[in-house]
Amino acid sequence: MTPKSPKSSDPSSPRDNPFRALPSVDEALRLLESALDSAQAPTHGDAPRVIPRAVLAEVVSNEMDAFRQRIGKDKLDASAVQAEIEGGQLVARLLAACAIERGRGVVSAVNATGVVLHTNLGRAPVHPEVAERMRAAAMGYCVLEMDRFSARRNERDARLGKLLSRATGAEAGIAVNNCAAAAFLMMQTFAGGREAIVSRGELVEIGGSFRVPAVMERAGVKLVEVGSTNRTRLSDYADAITDDTSLLMKVHTSNFRVVGFTEEVDAAEMARLGAERGITTGWDIGSGRLEAEGAQSLDIVGDETVLRDAVASGVDAIAFSGDKLLGGPQAGLLVGKRAAIRALRKNPIYRAMRLDKVSLAGLEATLELLAAGRGDEIPSRRLMHLSVAELTPIAERIAAALSALNGFEAKAVDSESQPGSGSAPTVFLPTKAVRVEWSGHTADDLATRLRAGEPPVFVRVQDDAVHLDPRALLPGDEDRLMKAFGALAS
Ligand SMILES: *Cc1c(COP(=O)(O)O)cnc(C)c1O
Repeated sequence: MTPKSPKSSDPSSPRDNPFRALPSVDEALRLLESALDSAQAPTHGDAPRVIPRAVLAEVVSNEMDAFRQRIGKDKLDASAVQAEIEGGQLVARLLAACAIERGRGVVSAVNATGVVLHTNLGRAPVHPEVAERMRAAAMGYCVLEMDRFSARRNERDARLGKLLSRATGAEAGIAVNNCAAAAFLMMQTFAGGREAIVSRGELVEIGGSFRVPAVMERAGVKLVEVGSTNRTRLSDYADAITDDTSLLMKVHTSNFRVVGFTEEVDAAEMARLGAERGITTGWDIGSGRLEAEGAQSLDIVGDETVLRDAVASGVDAIAFSGDKLLGGPQAGLLVGKRAAIRALRKNPIYRAMRLDKVSLAGLEATLELLAAGRGDEIPSRRLMHLSVAELTPIAERIAAALSALNGFEAKAVDSESQPGSGSAPTVFLPTKAVRVEWSGHTADDLATRLRAGEPPVFVRVQDDAVHLDPRALLPGDEDRLMKAFGALAS
């Protein structure tokens, strides 16, 4: 070993080796814990989110790794590292990492996008009475698979099936986890291992990688495409029928419209052809517009098929979503002829897709509200019907409050909201939005900060400005919105 030459700097000394100036993971963890003790933990809803110590240790270890990398990359010396620790920047970074950790997962958010049925934000908010029924089912035991008056075992969705029949005029109904599952179950039950005929213009992708041809393939269905993208006639279906055909199917093109020179096969004609040839007919109508007595018509969403009309067309099985236009919890609902629904129920795959007690309770309660003539109270329906006259005072109130904040400029402007979730892609609902600008910041920067803030706020960015559309705000959201902006302004 060669003796060390005397040097002014000794790399083993913390004063000169930046890496040795870093605290140990244990020391950093203690620093973080004392900082967390003195800061009040933000809450989501009612329950504070406590981060387990093992997760805190992970946060610290990740942050120290990042610090080490930065030392190498930015050539920080020991005194720069020391300054960051003593200046509190390290603790600030650890606290920020904790805030991100705590803010992940399913947390309550403010929807200022104006899109009422926003899939990324959980689609339909349920009615408080519906939420109460769901809560009661979740927290305790409930009568689920038994008729308590006869003590006989029954289907968990027997009552829901009755409510669906009453609401749509169908002979029977069942429920599965979502409409994608309902469509899959329909294809697999009626055409697994055999042929299904679908119009080329309806072989759509419905977002989230739900592509009709791919789903059919996984269901073991031999897809027979007929017609062209813009025109398909009944004769195209009729000509394609072989001995192996066991399903004639229509799929609603949800988030997509072909306009101009178009022709699609009428459901009633398809049903008649199926009945004549002894072939089951199915229709995935997606949103499913349910009209009910005492509730305003959903004609504002345009040419969505009314469920009762779909059922009256005579198609054997019709699939639609529980959390789109119906305004309930996530589910896929299937209604139609008794024999078809019985066949769906007998498929063992149905067991793998069945609904849980909480969603079932919520769907029953939602359909009961509609049946009681209280459909207009269902939040998503109410929000879609809000007029510019009703939205204007809200937009003006928010604009005034935001303009009073340091650095913000806001004004109410005419705008348009979309219903969302593939319902009526060409329909826009007139609204009054708040156009907000934050001096020194871009619109994207403001949108990002709002999303990461507390509570998280989701907005629309349009013409280089953040737009807050009050259409989808729920009770209490105006205050939460101001809290989020207040935190940015301070
Ligand atoms: C939305 C939609 C689906 C998927 O419904 P989920 O409830 O999201 O699973 C399937 N088919 C059509 C036509 C749709 O519009």
